[in-house]
Amino acid sequence: MTKMSPLLERNEQFAAAYTPGPLGPPAAQVVIVTCLDHRVDPASIFGLQLGDAVVIRNTGGRVTPAVIDDIAYLAFLAGQLFSGVVAAEGLFEVAVVHHTQCGTGFLADPGFRQQAAEATGQPEAALEAAAVADPYTTVKADVEHLLAAPSLSPKVSVSGHVYDIATGRLTTTVDARYP
Ligand SMILES: [Zn+2]
Repeated sequence: MTKMSPLLERNEQFAAAYTPGPLGPPAAQVVIVTCLDHRVDPASIFGLQLGDAVVIRNTGGRVTPAVIDDIAYLAFLAGQLFSGVVAAEGLFEVAVVHHTQCGTGFLADPGFRQQAAEATGQPEAALEAAAVADPYTTVKADVEHLLAAPSLSPKVSVSGHVYDIATGRLTTTVDARYP
């Protein structure tokens, strides 16, 4: 028995009723970038089914160089594989979703940040930059950052949203636009 045991049982039930689908563009034509917080699961909060959307998650849901690289590759892949299927004017929309009560918010405190830097080996400046103390501010900054990335395909639009842990409601704070 490990902590995975009950999840493996659930997977058995899942596999018993499973039907595989072909590789295709995500049905919702959306790529979601959000926090790894287990209270912010896109499948639950957006009612996603298998094949609906690509989800990229990291601490805070920040637009890091790794996220930008992933999106550039996804756009390339979509253009190569699905050019006859996806709309000519756009491949997909990237929805950047930050949330209230984010655990990275503690990093705004200098003492906490210093301890975190010692424990993780990450530079304090990097931890400070990663903090989501005010999701409305950081999501706007990250949308602009992604739109300004040279590797972002002109066929990819970007929008910004804040998810409220207290209400379960998503608020769009930056409307979708192309670079
Ligand atoms: Zn978070």
